[in-house]
Amino acid sequence: MAEKELTLSIIKPDGVERNIIGRIISRFEKAGLTIRALRLTRLTREEAEAFYAVHRERPFFDSLATYMTSGPIVVSVLEGYNAIQKNRELMGATNPEKADEGTIRKDFAKNVEINTVHGSDAPETAAKEIAFFFPETELIKGNR
Ligand code: GDP
Repeated sequence: MAEKELTLSIIKPDGVERNIIGRIISRFEKAGLTIRALRLTRLTREEAEAFYAVHRERPFFDSLATYMTSGPIVVSVLEGYNAIQKNRELMGATNPEKADEGTIRKDFAKNVEINTVHGSDAPETAAKEIAFFFPETELIKGNR
């Protein structure tokens, strides 16, 4: 069987604001993803711009950084077989209008920007994004 994989999840400010942290995490747990690290935090402008640096040239970059710093977020590291893809499936498409029924974004996202969750999109970005928020010592080994 393939190795378990790690991915970074963020519950964005609109998710925390609407008090649906538990409902979102519950979906991860029901899908068999387990939590290796978890923190409530708030990004500075500098951090938000660094996290989304790949989008620096996009027209929505400024607005995205403003949104991501508008309130607290929940960052977590999820572990599981195929965790990156599994989390992306649970999240649904970036634009909630295009997201499948039953996905987090379909059910909770406001629009293509204010879309409630982030999830790493590939192993290399997952490794970088996890390191952005968590030192190795904060990745707690589970017992299952
Ligand atoms: P993701 O991997 O599904 O989160 O999508 P991307 O990496 O393409 O975009 C990162 C984030 O930028 C998205 O989750 C949205 O919050 C925001 N975003 C993406 N596309 C758009 C857009 O066309 N307009 C605006 N305003 N925001 C966008």
